[in-house]
Amino acid sequence: MTVKENVHLHEIHKFGSMAERWWDPQGEFKTLHDINPLRLQFIQSFVDVADKRLVDVGCGGGILTEGLAKLGADALGVDLSEDLIDVADLHGLESGVNARYQKISVEALAEEQPQSFDHITCMEMLEHVPDPGSIIASCAKLVKPGGMVFFSTLNRQPKAYLLAIVAAEHVLKMLPQGTHDYKTFIKPSELCQSARAAGLELQGMVGIEYNPFNKRFSLGKDIDVNYIAAFKRIE
Ligand code: SAH
Repeated sequence: MTVKENVHLHEIHKFGSMAERWWDPQGEFKTLHDINPLRLQFIQSFVDVADKRLVDVGCGGGILTEGLAKLGADALGVDLSEDLIDVADLHGLESGVNARYQKISVEALAEEQPQSFDHITCMEMLEHVPDPGSIIASCAKLVKPGGMVFFSTLNRQPKAYLLAIVAAEHVLKMLPQGTHDYKTFIKPSELCQSARAAGLELQGMVGIEYNPFNKRFSLGKDIDVNYIAAFKRIE
């Protein structure tokens, strides 16, 4: 069976064009570096990833994938950007972190290897695809019954427009201009609805909050801007 393409090529090119600076902790992807420990902390509050088979969907240059591998996971990062897969592979070799990477869509991987992975992560990616529901359903198909699926994305809320686009891209210049498009943001209720339809039950959700005064991120109750959620695949 062929899997329909669920990708905006301009998004792949946009991220791919910045591939060589992916691992610069002060570069365009500083925010991903800064929030990575918080994402790992959230994931670890639900599961011990050591010796577990994980897929990191839309892995980019592998910031989260490597973090998972360092915690002992057998981690596979997948993305549709060839340039980013190359950067991720190279960085893994340099840092000696044992993660694997593959250029494949999550839809195709789920078709090939359904119910084969202990847990799935998919961070800051759903807002960049034409059909996020298809990504959510494929993550649910990929994971073993009882396994966890973690998503993070941006909330379609005026406050997210002000903070994630106006402030982060234009005023504070934390992200390159054009990184995000408000209309693609996803409300938590929409994420939960798609997840439920795919057989995923919500286990927890927190906000990734930013304090512009000390320039630090933290996990908290405010899910109006960026948020991260944990779901369990029903048995
Ligand atoms: N998840 C990573 C990178 C987020 S940036 C992190 O949080 O550290 C968004 C990533 O999604 C980019 O690497 C981009 O290439 C990827 N992407 C966009 N559309 C995709 C698709 N349809 N399938 C797989 N990856 C995709």
